[in-house]
Amino acid sequence: MSGTRDSFPVADDLVDCIMRALPDLSSLSSVILVSKHIYEVFKCHPSSIVSAVAYNHIGPALPQALRAARHDKDRDTRDPSNWVPESEVLNTPITRSEAQTLNQDARVVSELEDLFSWSHKDPTSPKSVLSENESMRFCRAMYRFLLYADTFRCDEEEDEDEDEDGDLVLLNYTEEKERFFDSLGDDTQFLEFAVIYRFLCETVQWTARAIGEFYPEWTGDNPEVDMLGFVVSTGPEVVLQMFKCQSGAPFIPVPENEENLEEFCFIARDLAKAFERRRLGKPDWNLHEMKKVILDDYYKYEDHPCDNCKQASQRLWSSANWPLLKGILSPGELGAAMKGHLPRNFTERQPLTQYLERPAFCYPDLFKWMIEHNTELDGGQPLTPDNWLCEGCLRLLVRSKMHEWWLERKRAEGIAVPAENCWYGYNCRTQAHRPQHASKLNHLCEPIRGDPA
Ligand SMILES: [Zn+2]
Ligand SMILES: [Zn+2]
Repeated sequence: MSGTRDSFPVADDLVDCIMRALPDLSSLSSVILVSKHIYEVFKCHPSSIVSAVAYNHIGPALPQALRAARHDKDRDTRDPSNWVPESEVLNTPITRSEAQTLNQDARVVSELEDLFSWSHKDPTSPKSVLSENESMRFCRAMYRFLLYADTFRCDEEEDEDEDEDGDLVLLNYTEEKERFFDSLGDDTQFLEFAVIYRFLCETVQWTARAIGEFYPEWTGDNPEVDMLGFVVSTGPEVVLQMFKCQSGAPFIPVPENEENLEEFCFIARDLAKAFERRRLGKPDWNLHEMKKVILDDYYKYEDHPCDNCKQASQRLWSSANWPLLKGILSPGELGAAMKGHLPRNFTERQPLTQYLERPAFCYPDLFKWMIEHNTELDGGQPLTPDNWLCEGCLRLLVRSKMHEWWLERKRAEGIAVPAENCWYGYNCRTQAHRPQHASKLNHLCEPIRGDPA
């Protein structure tokens, strides 16, 4: 292409219009490189075109997204009263590097929205089915949380100060946090923020359970440790990465001075105080009112009984949401739900739990196998992967099939299986207290004799 005006015979106002309709900022960067003509039209109104495209991409949460993208921890103070208000943030043109940050943050927020929607709105869809309004609430609160985390995450170099006795103490910015919560305006938007924080905690705890880790939470009873808060303070992107990779340690920076962790409270205490200041009762996160903060409508388990036991009101699982099960019915619990006395046979249970806890291990493979090898549960109908089952019925399935699956897996993986079966199979009591017996004979089998010793 020669790059002359004639090579792109479209009127300027139409080019302007097309640019403003582009879906995201990276498309805009590519389009303005196509011809000199387009670039010249762009140069007439660069900032209003960039804002229009940014709005197409981010939507109504653009002011919150831009404020988070612009926040510079090294330059800006921790005091929210010194920040440019959300209502004025769009008055300053978006720079190229801010556009890159917006792109990156939007990807993270949209993946988290998918997860939120799948977990809380519609268990049948791994992609977000949030309405426009629901999505706007989710995104604006998530970007505000991103800004909070960037501002108040522990920074050892900056945040250490000497107390009256000359000892180093960690600053917790209590007053600044108070101002941040006040700046969220009415209770609705404050609650949105709190629900998003809770959702990120839930995602961290999901990961911890899936991989057999434990992050204690500040509750007021153990005021010294807020490990969960410390992990969540890494921000939405790291929390998402932990969930996707099913891994904790590589993403969480360990503080150089571990005592700092004991003094550090990222948000739980400050948020609890903000609830008191607003005279909002202590939140019950499972309540309908709490779900309603973000969602206008969601899948109600009261209206959907379990396909096997016919009981309603419990969260249900099928092949549509098995990938979300690992942090709920954890590998440790699956081991404990095995048949007979197998849960007390640590020669079997420990390697099984470790096998299931591997980040690469997918629950869908396991549950598909168990359903396919199980014709019925306790007199119910034959099951298929499309059936929706409650956690109680899943435990029954695990009890009837887990040991068979594990025996097959051990053989497939080349893990040694004792040649001889114990006569009492999974019902053997000796396997629980004599490790030597437990490892000498195979217990992942049916008993051929009753009355186990
Ligand atoms: Zn059930
Ligand atoms: Zn035995």
